[in-house]
Amino acid sequence: MLQKFCVLGNPIQHSLSPQIHLAFAKAMGIDLSYEKVLIDFEKGSDSNHAANDAFEKCVLNLIKKGYNGANVTVPFKEIAFQMADVLDKSAQNANAANTLRFHSSKVRAFNTDGEGFLKDIQTRLKFEIEGKKVLLLGAGGAAKAIVYPLYKAKPKSFALANRTLEKARTLAKNLPIQVVDFANLKNAPAFDLVINATTSSLTHAEIPLPNFNEGALFYDLFYAPKMQTLFLESAQKAGVKNISDGLGMLIYQAALAFYIWHGKMPMVEAVYEMLRSELDQKK
Ligand code: NAP
Repeated sequence: MLQKFCVLGNPIQHSLSPQIHLAFAKAMGIDLSYEKVLIDFEKGSDSNHAANDAFEKCVLNLIKKGYNGANVTVPFKEIAFQMADVLDKSAQNANAANTLRFHSSKVRAFNTDGEGFLKDIQTRLKFEIEGKKVLLLGAGGAAKAIVYPLYKAKPKSFALANRTLEKARTLAKNLPIQVVDFANLKNAPAFDLVINATTSSLTHAEIPLPNFNEGALFYDLFYAPKMQTLFLESAQKAGVKNISDGLGMLIYQAALAFYIWHGKMPMVEAVYEMLRSELDQKK
């Protein structure tokens, strides 16, 4: 029987999720549909409430229509977490959900962003985090999803910096993470892995660069043609040789959602190569 899935967000037009899931399904011989769903809501003084309302209505409607699951993107990851009947540990750790499974009218929530990020670093890029000095930039939704899996990967030291200091302090609470001053990163010791989980590359804003050790990897969660994000370009100009954007993370988080829904882990490499070459041809 055809299984039905979708990705929910606003905006949603840019989403590569249908392309990724349909490519996985074809390779694995699974019959499914997967589309983008724009959840519209009134933007204004009470837009949070309107967004949450619209999201809940949409999910109930999908269940009624016999959908098997959904991916969730900006700005609905928190409400997806709040409305779920059952929470996987991955969603609990992130306080947000990007993957929902519908079963017997119940919603089960997962978060595959953190694990997807780790898999991209460790499996595709073959970068060992254990024993390394790590700096995470940002304290928004993406940083929240990756902070715990990153800590579990046993870095030698773990530092966190965010433009708004208080948010970094809140995120670092209860974990052995040192909060460092975002504006004065040059005064912090050198790092082996620097992760940009801010939206600076999206808005084309320059952010301070830290000192780095030989062989350091600079990873931007944002993705762009030829990996030319402002953050990665600045890092290269400063002498960093090892860089990656977040396209691999996007594909791994999708692969982990696919595993949750179908019990089979798809091969990521071929889909990465396909999307990389399509993306790199864009201006
Ligand atoms: P978010 O929740 O809106 O958080 C934004 C973060 O960026 C906050 O820490 C904010 O700091 C910081 N920031 C914004 N503008 C800044 C600036 N000009 N200078 C310094 N810091 C700035 O966003 P998000 O959902 O976490 O997304 C973060 C990035 O991750 C985006 O580029 C997104 O595309 C990417 N992402 C990629 C994947 C993937 O699969 N590859 C998955 C999820 C997200 P304040 O706290 O000071 O406002």
